[in-house]
Order: sequence, then structure tokens, then C-alpha cells
Amino acid sequence: MGNGKSFLTAKESTVSESSVNMESISENWKEVFFKEASKGDHYKVIVKSKYDEIVQDVLRAKLSSKKKSAQQFKRLRKFDVIEIDGTNKLIAKFKDDAALKYYVPLEDMYDLLRKAHLSTGHGARDRLLKEIAMKYANVTRELINLFLSMCQSCQQKKIKRRRGLVSKPILHEEVS
Ligand SMILES: [Zn+2]
Repeated sequence: MGNGKSFLTAKESTVSESSVNMESISENWKEVFFKEASKGDHYKVIVKSKYDEIVQDVLRAKLSSKKKSAQQFKRLRKFDVIEIDGTNKLIAKFKDDAALKYYVPLEDMYDLLRKAHLSTGHGARDRLLKEIAMKYANVTRELINLFLSMCQSCQQKKIKRRRGLVSKPILHEEVS
């Protein structure tokens, strides 16, 4: 209810308040992204505290010889934990020859999407989805859409393209 509206308001104020410092813009976007993504269930995000809790629970369930709870059974079917450089990472339960897929806590999601988006030269949704879905278990189409709606460069390109459709073609050199 009214989520879209408040999101737009936040977005606009973020842009107008910080036009100088690039770092602070990035931080603000991250905050807006975080707030927006934690709102809807459809984003299927896991916040860091929950992520840590699942990691501990899965480890306990794997090591314990005691009878497992229904929730532990459920989690063991879905998750596994591997240690990388001394850090426990939550991964999707390994299935045959499928690739290893990491779960990403919401707190790390923005940076991950940003990196993938920039490294693909402002890659579009399907490109990103393909790239990211190979390695990560919980980066959804909805999250990518949310991120892309916040990329100013992509949004401006979109507007330009739309304008280009209605106006007569003008030859010009684009600075890219
Ligand atoms: Zn972009």
C-alpha cells in the first residue's frame, strides 16, 4: 500500500539533496534499496541477522546427533554451509552437478548488483539475471528490477530512447 509512492519520494529527495558527493549518493541509494527491498515478501530477502541464524542452525543440525526439529529438517533440505577463508557461507543445498550457489544477505545485495551491473557495462535485467543466477541463490528478478530502477544512467538512457521515438531523428554524437 503506497509503497511505490514513498519510494519515489525518497528517490527524488535523495537526488536533489546530494548532487556533489558521489560516495554519499551511493550510500543513499543503498539505504533506499535496503528499505524498499525489506518491505515486500516477493523480494525474498534474508537480512544478515537471519542469515547468521540459519548458518548456525544448519551447522548445529549437521553436527548434532540429536533428533532434528521439523524446522531443521526443512532447513537442511534447502541449505548447506561451507567455510571459505574462515567465514561460514550459506549455500543452496548441493544437487548433483548443479553449480554452487551462495545466498546473499540483504545487506550485501546492493553492492553485489552494482558490481555486476557496472562490470557488464550497465547490463540489462536478463543479462544480469543470467550472470548472477549462476552464482547466487536468492537474487531475484524483482530485486534486479528494483536495482535497475535506481540506476540513473540507465533511467536517463531509457528516457532518451523514449524521446527518440516520438521526435524526428537527429544525428548527434553521443559522449559515452
Ligand atoms: Zn545502469
